[in-house]
Amino acid sequence: MASPRVTVIGAGFSGLAAATHLAKAGFEVRLLEQHDQAGGRARSFEAEGFRFDMGPSWYWMPDIFERYFAAFGKRVDDLYDLRRLDPSYRLVWSKEDPWDIPAGLDALRGFFEGQRSGAAESFDRFVEQTRYIYESAVSDYLLRPSLSVFEFVDPRLVFELGKMRMLRSMHAYAESFFDDPRLVRLVEWPVLFLGASAKKTSAMYSLMSYADMALGTWYPMGGMHRIIDAMVDVAQEQGVDIQLQSRVESVVTKQGRVVGVQTEQAMFECDAVVAAADYHHVEQNLLDAHDRQFREAQWGRKTMSPSSLLFYLGVRGSVEGLRHHTLFFDRDLDVHMRDVYERPAWPSDPLFYVCAPSKTDPTVAPDGHENLFVLVPLAAGLPDADEQRDKIFENVVRRIEHASGTSLKDRIVYRRDYAMRDFERDYGAYKGNAYGMANTLSQTGPFKPPLRSRKVENLYFAGQLTVPGPGMPPSLISGELAAGVLARDLGAS
Ligand SMILES: Cc1cc2nc3c(=O)[nH]c(=O)nc-3n(C[C@H](O)[C@H](O)[C@H](O)COP(=O)(O)OP(=O)(O)OC[C@H]3O[C@@H](n4cnc5c(N)ncnc54)[C@H](O)[C@@H]3O)c2cc1C
Repeated sequence: MASPRVTVIGAGFSGLAAATHLAKAGFEVRLLEQHDQAGGRARSFEAEGFRFDMGPSWYWMPDIFERYFAAFGKRVDDLYDLRRLDPSYRLVWSKEDPWDIPAGLDALRGFFEGQRSGAAESFDRFVEQTRYIYESAVSDYLLRPSLSVFEFVDPRLVFELGKMRMLRSMHAYAESFFDDPRLVRLVEWPVLFLGASAKKTSAMYSLMSYADMALGTWYPMGGMHRIIDAMVDVAQEQGVDIQLQSRVESVVTKQGRVVGVQTEQAMFECDAVVAAADYHHVEQNLLDAHDRQFREAQWGRKTMSPSSLLFYLGVRGSVEGLRHHTLFFDRDLDVHMRDVYERPAWPSDPLFYVCAPSKTDPTVAPDGHENLFVLVPLAAGLPDADEQRDKIFENVVRRIEHASGTSLKDRIVYRRDYAMRDFERDYGAYKGNAYGMANTLSQTGPFKPPLRSRKVENLYFAGQLTVPGPGMPPSLISGELAAGVLARDLGAS
């Protein structure tokens, strides 16, 4: 009997993961991607001798990548050259006061004690608790498809959440360990990856702090796109048929079932679809109104993760004062967070982040040059105007110059900007979001848009807008979960 045919839409982390797991489970899998390269938000581009990663730059949770490739008999070491960064990153409070955050628990313990006498002991307790949270999450809770709240009606979970008071905010949780506001900031900032501030994110996500401090910050030599190259190779080895430059125009249904997918070039009949493009885009643009689970107004009530203004900069000479990762915390976070979440506006003096991969990897810039990627979080849905981009550009360049004590502006030999309207154009991203939906408590697990459509029988979703949430590791898990649910529904596992 012929294998059931599955079409996967979108070759980002989640689509590649779903396709590869399905192919391994015996399905005939076609993966359709609109761009001319795989990777989605993790694509890369070359210009003037520089190679820029377009999105992700922090490689955290190496265990999740290891687990992913192990499912196909591979080890990360055989696929790309992964290096641990030390220091993990730099936090700039002011020019005079940068913190280089060392790699490894022993060094970090000493660092905490050096900042505040007695903090090492609080650090030990914090690591011990967050280790437990991390291990429970990655071995269990994150791997639940969250199709129903009943998956979480679990006396052990309720007991643990209560015992550790996980329903309070990450900020309150961090303050219960540390009284130095900067140490609080150091342990809580990683939840910003989940698209909401530490004051709005549950302490459950302190697992991100554990990932940062205990598991470390890594970098694949050659750039983040090396991970995608490896995933493409593994997908093809498993038999996935990847078709680039194949933009899906509609998901074709008949009496509540998917029958195929229509691209600009052809109609592909299939037995099931995994939509791993942005959820809102698939529902609102690729499905007929009667097949959608959510109305536009319902999307309007969801809390989106921020968008971002990105600058890809090629610079002559080196830029001192920066590490591979440098976070500029030299302004008031609460003021910037208000501009992102409460009364959306272009910030006048934002916090921002700079990645300088050329500090580690000489292949991403021509000799004697620096490759910089600057990220400024912005509210999704802001009107996106060149004039505003330029104002922010002037602001961040001035502050990098100040922190590094050297000129920068007159040494920039390449500049490309990217923000809301680019995310909309390239990914159909709702409100130009960069990282999907925020992982607030009311948008966690079963409260997220589901992996399996409630309207169309054989339609599944994967990606950063569904469970478990934004980030490369969660997107990998999302693809695996969607593939697992589909395979069970179709009786293949
Ligand atoms: C600027 C930025 C920085 C980030 N930094 C980090 C980081 O440091 N660490 C980290 O872990 N995560 C980071 N992330 C998050 C991470 O990149 C994402 O969560 C992850 O890549 C999302 O993968 P995905 O498969 O859900 O979606 P995507 O990567 O968006 O993939 C969706 C794919 O679907 C395709 N598609 C859309 N519509 C169609 C259509 N109609 N037909 C065919 N194809 C279609 C798109 O072209 C795209 O390739 C960052 C994201 C951004 C934007």
